[in-house]
Amino acid sequence: MAGRDHDRSERARAVTCPGRLSEARSEHVSATGDRNVYLTFDDGPDPRWTASILDVLAEHEAPATFFVIGTCAAAHPKLIQRIIAEGHEVGNHTMTHPDLSRCEPAEVQHEIQSASDVIRTVCPEASLRHIRAPYGIWTDQVFTMSTRAGLVPLHWSVDPRDWSRPGVPAIVDAVLASVRPGAVVLLHDGCPPVEREQAIDCGRDQTLEALSRLIPALGEQGFAICSLPQSH
Ligand SMILES: [Zn+2]
Repeated sequence: MAGRDHDRSERARAVTCPGRLSEARSEHVSATGDRNVYLTFDDGPDPRWTASILDVLAEHEAPATFFVIGTCAAAHPKLIQRIIAEGHEVGNHTMTHPDLSRCEPAEVQHEIQSASDVIRTVCPEASLRHIRAPYGIWTDQVFTMSTRAGLVPLHWSVDPRDWSRPGVPAIVDAVLASVRPGAVVLLHDGCPPVEREQAIDCGRDQTLEALSRLIPALGEQGFAICSLPQSH
C-alpha cells in the first residue's frame, strides 16, 4: 500500500542519503581500539516484543539503548521502568514518529519535548541523553531543537533492515558482515503508530530470534556489547 511504500523508501533513504549524517554520530570508535559495539532498538516499547527482547539481553548480560516513541512509552510505562531497572538506556524517538523534515518548527519542538516529558514522568530516574530522528531523517532544525532539549543526536552505522522481516539468517548475516569496532546497530522492538494503524505486519519475532544468535556471534568475533559512552 502507498503508506507502506512511502515509509519503507524513507527508511532506505535515510541510510544512503548522507545529507546531515555528519552531524549525527553514527558510531563510537574507541581511541584505545576496543572492539565495542552498541545495540539500539527503535519504535517501542511494545508489549508483544520488548519484554522478550529484554529477557534475551538479560540472559546474555548485554546492555542496549531503546529509542522509544512517546505515545508508546505513555501506554506502557512499566516497560520503560523495566528497561531502566535492568541497566539499559532510554532515548527519545519523538512523541508520534513523524518525518520531522515535514513538520513546522513548533511541531518539531513539541514532538521532542513531549517525548522527553513522558519518559521523565514514567521513569524519573532515567538519564535521558540521546535522540534519534524517525526514519533517520535529520534536519538543521532537529539538531538545533535536540541540542536545546539537552539531547545528543545518534544515528547508526549498521542496519540489517530487520523491520522488513528479511528472515533471521539475513538479519544476523547483515550485522556480522558490516559490524566493526564502535558500530551502532539499529534494530526494532516495536512499530511506528502509522504502520500499526494500517495493520502492517509489525512482527518482531525475527528480530528477537536474530538477537539471540547475534549476541553470542558477536562475542565469538571478539566484540563487547557496551552501553553508550558517557562522554561525547
Ligand atoms: Zn523509528
